[in-house]
Order: sequence, then C-alpha cells, then structure tokens
Amino acid sequence: MVRETGYYDLLGVKPKASLDEIKKAYRKLALKYHPDKNPNEGEKFKLISQAYEVLSDPEKRDLYDHGGEQAIKEGGMGGGAFSSPMDIFNMFFGGGSRMQRERRGKNVVHQLPVTLEEVYSSATRKLGLQKNVICEKCDGYGGKKGALEKCSNCKGRGVEIQVRQIGPGMIQQMQSMCSDCQGRGKRFNSKDRCKNCNGQKVERKKKILEVHIDKGMKDGQKITFNGEGDQEPELEPGDVIIVLEQKKHPVFQRQQDNLLMKMEIKLLEALCGFKKTIRTLDDRMLVITSPPGCVVKHNDIKCVQDEGMPLYRHPYERGQLIIQFLVKFPENGWLPKDTLPQLEALLPPREELMISDDAEEVDLTDMDAHSQQSRHNTEVYEDDESPSTGVQCQTQ
Ligand SMILES: [Zn+2]
Ligand SMILES: [Zn+2]
Repeated sequence: MVRETGYYDLLGVKPKASLDEIKKAYRKLALKYHPDKNPNEGEKFKLISQAYEVLSDPEKRDLYDHGGEQAIKEGGMGGGAFSSPMDIFNMFFGGGSRMQRERRGKNVVHQLPVTLEEVYSSATRKLGLQKNVICEKCDGYGGKKGALEKCSNCKGRGVEIQVRQIGPGMIQQMQSMCSDCQGRGKRFNSKDRCKNCNGQKVERKKKILEVHIDKGMKDGQKITFNGEGDQEPELEPGDVIIVLEQKKHPVFQRQQDNLLMKMEIKLLEALCGFKKTIRTLDDRMLVITSPPGCVVKHNDIKCVQDEGMPLYRHPYERGQLIIQFLVKFPENGWLPKDTLPQLEALLPPREELMISDDAEEVDLTDMDAHSQQSRHNTEVYEDDESPSTGVQCQTQ
C-alpha cells in the first residue's frame, strides 16, 4: 500500500515504477537540474536527490510506502540526514563518471562584469580567451609519427631518482618526475620534435566566445560553454564557465525582479501633486503623476507595476519599479516672516498645547559639537507675531 506519492511525483514516476524507471527518471532530472546547468534550481536538485535516495533503496522505499516521509525522517535515514545531493549525483553517475572526471581537463571560470542595462535588455558580449588547443601540425602527437623513443634520462621509467646524503652514513632517495620526458618515459629527439608546438602537443590560441546575456539574468549566474576549456591529448576538455557580475547602477538598485529607485521631490510637490519623468534602462521615458490633493510623505514608497526587471526565461513578465520618495524641504528663512501666517492659515492647524505653570522653558538648538558656544544666544525673543507654542525658533 502506498500512502504518499510525493517522492514519486518529484521524479515523475508512478508508485509502481520499477527501479530502472526510477533510475531513468532521476538521471534525466538530475542532469537537468544540476547546479552547473541550472544554478537557480538548487532546491529542486536537492529534492530530486532525496526522492531518489529513498526510492532507489528497497528498504527505504518500503518504509516510505508504508509510513510516508514522516517514517523516513524519523529514522529511515540512519539519523535522519539525507546524503548531499552532489554525493548522490556522483554515486549515480558512478565510477565511470569519476574516471571520466579524472580524464577531464579543468574547468575555467571567468568573471564577466555586466551592466544593469545588459541584463535588462539582453546583450551579446564577445570574450577573447587564450586557451590550449591540440597542435594542428602534429595532431597532438608532438613529433614525427613513429619517432618516439625511450627517454635516455630515465630509461623509460618516467621518474628520476636522486640520492642525497643527509648525514654521516645516511642517504635519502628522492623520486621525482623525469624532467626530460615529463614522466612519459618516451620522447622525441630534437630533430623529430614538432616545431610548431615544440613537442608540447598543444599550442596557445585565442578563442572568441560569444556570451549571450539573457534578459533577467542575475548577479552570480553562470553561463557554461561545454568543452571549451584547455585541450590536451587523450583528455576531454573541461568547460569554460562565465560568472556574471552585475555592476552597480547610479539610479536603479536591483532587488530580485524589482527595481528600486529614490526620487527627490519638493515640499510643494509632496503637498500639491506632481508630474515626474523616469528614464528606463531601455531608454524609454515614463511619466508618473501624483494628483493634486494627494500628499506624498517623506520615505513614502510607491510602485509601478511591470516596470521592474524582466523575469529570466519569462521576459514578457516583469517585476515592479519601486520608488521611494524623499521630500526636500525648503531652506531656513525661505519665506519672509510676515508671510508665514498666510501659509499657516492654509496648513492643517496646530494642536492646542496645555502648559502647566511649573513647566520649564528650555532652548532648542541645532545638534553640533560646538553647541556650548552658542550660549550667548539664550535670550528667547517674544515678539507679538510669535505663536505661543512653547517651541522657539532660534535665529543665529
Ligand atoms: Zn605539434
Ligand atoms: Zn624521462
């Protein structure tokens, strides 16, 4: 009896699936969601691995079929921990894969700085790389066919033995790779050696890679060029992995699929409405409006739907453009004192203040290190115009 089908669903197989079917399903999904191919699907890769780990083991599968995930977590996994997804992957692709891995050249990783505009609108970048390629002249043989002879330095063993005396009556034998034949035991004599690669079998060549930066790609995302690493005879070349590094933008800040910007508005605009323009990353002009009567406060956040970043692989969908408004207040003394009452008459009224007789009147000054020095200016002016609010504006 099967109580839960979650693990089967993850692998896309029926609860009656044979081990072979489960393996086949895992192989397909694991390759698809492997972090090298799909860096954003790490969680999915993990879940697939866990499902496979359980269903590929008859005992655990039985436990799961009867007690569900609960039973597995409670002790089916010997302490409850799953193996790392990478271990499962490497185990599955087996000894063969590990052998292959050893016979594979190294992966080469390059950082590629990209602008926000490039990941917004997509771009193609050409990247020139120096890499080893199999020598064209000798096909990676290193010299004249059939002319390879036993290395005279190491007598074909590929290693040199050095003996040195480290004390009275004590000698140490050191074995190291033969420098004449690089441990191969065989070499060409100079006249048979390939002149193009000097017997190295590979030559340095410049290769141009076209890197397609898709809309919505993220900082740190990898683009893999399979087999574009250094070539070496009898070795499968590794990959070239391009890692995007998104540069900072002077206006927009990216938050996942949203774009964030700060916009300064004047007090007048905050109170009486405004029209403002925004130049988008693909050079369009947006007009935003805050209608009269709508007050925008300092640090208020508003957004424009669908003007954020395009979604990776779904470029017709976009996140939001989030605007944080910063209200710029006028400078001190911007309005002649005699006009203030007019403004006051328009603004929402002050709250009435109750001051008890024993309240103490104190000075309000600017915060600064030299505040002690402004002591001389302690006299509170009380002209007739000044409303009795208790807070005094100190002129300097
Ligand atoms: Zn050559
Ligand atoms: Zn040698």
